This record gives sequence, structure tokens and C-alpha cells, in this order.
Amino acid sequence: MAADIIDGRAIAAELRADLAGEVALLAAGGVTPGLAAVLVGDDPGSVSYVTAKAEACAEIGIFSETIRLPADIPQDALLDRIDELNGDPRFHAILQQLPLPSHIDERVILDAIAPAKDVDGLHPTNLGRLLRGETSGPIPCTPQGVMHLLARSGVDPAGTHAVVVGRSSLVGRPLAVLLANKATGANATVTLCHTGTADLGAHTRTADILVVAAGRPGTVTADMVKPGATVIDVGTNRIDDASRKRGWRLVGDVDFAGVSEVAGRITKVPGGVGPMTIAMLLANTVRAARVAGAG
Ligand code: NAP
Repeated sequence: MAADIIDGRAIAAELRADLAGEVALLAAGGVTPGLAAVLVGDDPGSVSYVTAKAEACAEIGIFSETIRLPADIPQDALLDRIDELNGDPRFHAILQQLPLPSHIDERVILDAIAPAKDVDGLHPTNLGRLLRGETSGPIPCTPQGVMHLLARSGVDPAGTHAVVVGRSSLVGRPLAVLLANKATGANATVTLCHTGTADLGAHTRTADILVVAAGRPGTVTADMVKPGATVIDVGTNRIDDASRKRGWRLVGDVDFAGVSEVAGRITKVPGGVGPMTIAMLLANTVRAARVAGAG
């Protein structure tokens, strides 16, 4: 294998250790950071994500509570619950676990979270600030995690060509903005690809940094990667695997076996971006508590 592995688990563990120190300092000043996670329904993937987030909070001393609501909760009742949490001083941060059932308009719910408590940075106010190049507010966790992975691996995007595959508001779009920011640790020339891109490989082959967030296994294969490139695989896809007790395993969007022979650095799935997303959720919660404590 040619590529060095970018170890998201190890980098996230370092970040969590730093955050634990910050939480202890806040607690000494009388502020315990608090996160409310709202889970609608019992989708197994969402339940396991929320459980992992609650455990990560507990490990570093963040107070967290999971508010479990039935899948058929009316939108207005969910809005009332969000409103209560906006006014609850125990919580500095609110996480609405996505996706929501189809009768609920995701945007209406995200818009209802107070921008100061918007731990995922998906409120239009926070996304708007990000678009203006302001990075002092909450930044969506996964793109922020990718930027940290690059920084902690010694990969400077400045002057490089970065290609992002996927244009969701959760991952691809904010990441493209972060990479293109006129700032230290950014300053890349960015190409944003999607299903309307005519020849995906023609773009990815020119990438010094290639981030793939398409949600489809095998989106990027070895022939689509420039030798020596840094490849970050955001994809998290469950595929059937009869050899596993649970009957499935997680794979990314990148053909790891082939691409790792060509790339210079690469992340794995699992163990790459996933742990960073959780670390950034903790970081955003601590930041919100710090800002609230200072105010
Ligand atoms: P999404 O909302 O479904 O967006 C996927 C994007 O990829 C869309 O913009 C889509 O284009 C584009 N796309 C899909 N197939 C493509 C192809 N063959 N060629 C080029 N573009 C393609 O997904 P998401 O929320 O951004 O998540 C993406 C993946 O990351 C998923 O596997 C998700 O589970 C994973 N994820 C992981 C983490 C983590 O912490 N590890 C966090 C968030 C998401 P169009 O816009 O044209 O449809």
C-alpha cells in the first residue's frame, strides 16, 4: 500500500483530550456545557449515532440529555419542544438528529433552533456567516472535522486544487466554502462536483485534495485519483456482509483497496471522518458554553 493512513480516531482522541481540559476549566468557573439531542422515531442508525454522541459527551464531562420523541409527532409539537430547549439554560447546544420523518419539514425545524445553540451550524444565520468567511460561529461538524484532519496531518490546502464530490448543505457546500476561505489552513482553489458533473474523473484526477461525500460506494476508483493526492472519504454506507454477525459492514464512497495504491494520504471508513464529526460536535458544544458563560 502506497498511501499513508490519516487516522481519524487518533486525531479525534487528541482533540477530545484538549476539550476535556477546557470543560474542566469551564466547570471550575461554574459552567457545565450542556447538549440536548432530539431524536424523532427509532431508526437504528440514528439511535446508534445519538448514543455514541451521548457517550462522547459523558466521557469529557459535558452534560447531555436525549429527548426521544415518537415518529408520528406532529411538526408543531416538535417545534414546541425545540422552543422549550431554546429557553432551557441547562443546554448550550441543541442537536436535531437527521433525517426526520417525511411529514416534518427539516428546514422549518433547523430554522427554529436558536442560532447560538445550533450545534450543527445548519441554521441559515450560521451558514450565512460561514458564506461571508466568518468562522467564529458554529461550523457544520463534518466539514469542520475534515479541515481539522487536513491540518493535523500537515496538509495545507493553500494554493492546491481541492475537489469536493457532493453538494449537500450538511457536508459538500460548507466544506467547499471552508476550503476556499481566505484564511490560514484554507485558501484552496475549489471544484464542487455533483450528479450533474459531466465527467467526474476529469475533475478528480486534477485534485491535490479530494474529498468524497456522495453516499455511494465506489464513486471514486483508482483511475480517478492523481498520484500522491490526499483523499478524504466522508461516505458512510452499510453494505450486506454475511461474514459479519450483524449482517452488514460500513464502507466509504472511495474504493479503498485501489485508491490507497495511488494516493499519498487517505482516510479509512470507519475510523476516518466519523470520529472527527463527533469530536467537532463536542467542540461546538464547548464553544457555545464558553460564549454563553462570557455573555
Ligand atoms: P446527500 O445529502 O445525499 O448528498 C450527496 C451528494 O453527493 C449530492 O450532492 C449528490 O449530487 C452527490 N452525488 C451522489 N452521487 C454522486 C456521483 N456518482 N457523482 C457525483 N456526485 C454524486 O449526502 P450527505 O448528507 O452529504 O452525505 C454524504 C455521505 O457522507 C453519506 O454516505 C453520509 O452517510 C456520509 N456522512 C458521513 C458523516 C460522518 O461523520 N462520517 C457525516 C455526514 C455524512 P446531487 O446534488 O446532484 O444529487
